[in-house]
Amino acid sequence: MSYSIDFGEYFLFDDLTAHLQGLAAAYPALATLASLGRSHRGRDLWCLTVTNQATGPHDEKPAFYIDAHIHAEEVATSHTALYTAWYLLTRYGSDAEVTWLLDHMTFYILPRLNPDGAEISLTTAHHWCGNGRYLPGAEQTRGLCQMDINGDGYIVQMRLEDPAGEWKISKEDPRLMLLREPGEQHDGPYYRLYREGLIKGPWDGVTIEIEKPRDGNLNRNFPTGWIDGRRQYGAGDYALDEPEALAIAQFLTTHPNITGMQCYHTHGGVHLRPSLVAPDSTLPRGDLALYKTIGAMATRITGYPTISVYEEFTPDPDQPRTGSLMQWSYDEMGIITFSTELWNPELAAGIADPAKYQVRARSTADEIKLLRYNDEHLGGRGFIPWAPFDHPQLGRVEIGGWTHMYTFRNPPPASWAATDTARRFLPDTIHQNCLFTLRHAACTPLLRITRAEVTALAPDLYKITAVVKNEGYLPTYMTQRALKHQFATAVKVALALPAGAELLMGDAVQDIGHLAGREERTATWSPWLREWNTPQRQVAWLVRASAGTPLTITAAAQRAGTQRRQVTL
Ligand SMILES: [Zn+2]
Repeated sequence: MSYSIDFGEYFLFDDLTAHLQGLAAAYPALATLASLGRSHRGRDLWCLTVTNQATGPHDEKPAFYIDAHIHAEEVATSHTALYTAWYLLTRYGSDAEVTWLLDHMTFYILPRLNPDGAEISLTTAHHWCGNGRYLPGAEQTRGLCQMDINGDGYIVQMRLEDPAGEWKISKEDPRLMLLREPGEQHDGPYYRLYREGLIKGPWDGVTIEIEKPRDGNLNRNFPTGWIDGRRQYGAGDYALDEPEALAIAQFLTTHPNITGMQCYHTHGGVHLRPSLVAPDSTLPRGDLALYKTIGAMATRITGYPTISVYEEFTPDPDQPRTGSLMQWSYDEMGIITFSTELWNPELAAGIADPAKYQVRARSTADEIKLLRYNDEHLGGRGFIPWAPFDHPQLGRVEIGGWTHMYTFRNPPPASWAATDTARRFLPDTIHQNCLFTLRHAACTPLLRITRAEVTALAPDLYKITAVVKNEGYLPTYMTQRALKHQFATAVKVALALPAGAELLMGDAVQDIGHLAGREERTATWSPWLREWNTPQRQVAWLVRASAGTPLTITAAAQRAGTQRRQVTL
């Protein structure tokens, strides 16, 4: 059985839906497709559940959550999530790592959290960061509004000659606009740069206002950090007022088996980790160590550095990123969550020290490297040459500059790639990130009943013993944060007796507390290092029943799965 997908080009919603349905139909024993709800404009929010159903139902196994495409333009993220589903399903039974994962775990894969914004980004020139609450052009009410005014299918830049302007044309490459030096007077002509568009509403012919977008940024809509009025543009009117964010939140709160999360974004080529709102010194030390260890593994696999959003990815620490899904899932639920910014065009262009945060002024040499990358690997498609245009409001302007979608924001699809190297950018990006995500998934706590024994003490009198073990990397409580918020219940071991059998000693349900993971043993034992906790415990019962009676032992913990063993007296 197989299902093939050509990952060379990005997918519109209907194509993505067809592939998800195709995978679910081709692998009915491993995959189930469900809609978690509908977007503003009525598109399904798909969730593909992937596990070997023969080894237990999805909700009795620890689960790993993967989401993508919460931001409209980040189409390479959908690709990575779909690729991961395809990788798991097509390799089950032949790849030992994949087979282990689907036998022991569940994957919840949500490839497109923002299907309306994605469709607008894929089918129009609009630079969209919302979720379709407002249609293109309606998300801004006044001032300069982005628009493809010359009808070439792109929204780029307009340059207007102005003696007071901030920009000038590079002498090395006339496409390149350079920032004017402070105090510089006589190296013009100078220009002002604006996004291509028209001025809406009453205009006095002088002031060009630029409004912040009002559209929904779903990754600011989660219920965390909404204190003291701290919320960011696009956050919505109140937490979870966007239907897509509400559906995700309901899914997470009703799936207490989730033990790890990966949220995909573009771009930057970095694995981001919490905190988003506070320095590293505020994180529990054990959790910070976990993030650093798993983050180092991520860096080994993908080459991307792993950084704290607050420490290294926030342009203004006075305006931390509130309401994000990763902050919510780690801070409030204690789930180790990474938010990866796929793809860094600066790396592809051979820039030695690429910026982690992509909004910055680059050196002229680096800007020229990017233009050369465009000329060679994209056949020049990524940069629109400056050309004169008679703007109905501003008069003579020139329109040109970088396109956005398949240059900076996403790796080029096959139709944009002019070299074999460029054709590898997209498949390599999605493959390497898939591999890290599967390794992160395998860090889960994992409960097993490793021994279940019956000892006959006298006629109709039996001692039952069971050993319950955490075979996972993480402890059954996952993280210090989860422990603090009681988001991971302790391990309970239950003995179910049929009618007529009598329990003489031992509670029918025994709470054995939490079991350690192997993460706490980072060196050989030393009195200076962390105390070692036990990863396994034994429980016992005394039962009066007749020979041949079947009994069921069940071990369960919210974040470590449910295991059953049958014994016969
Ligand atoms: Zn994003």
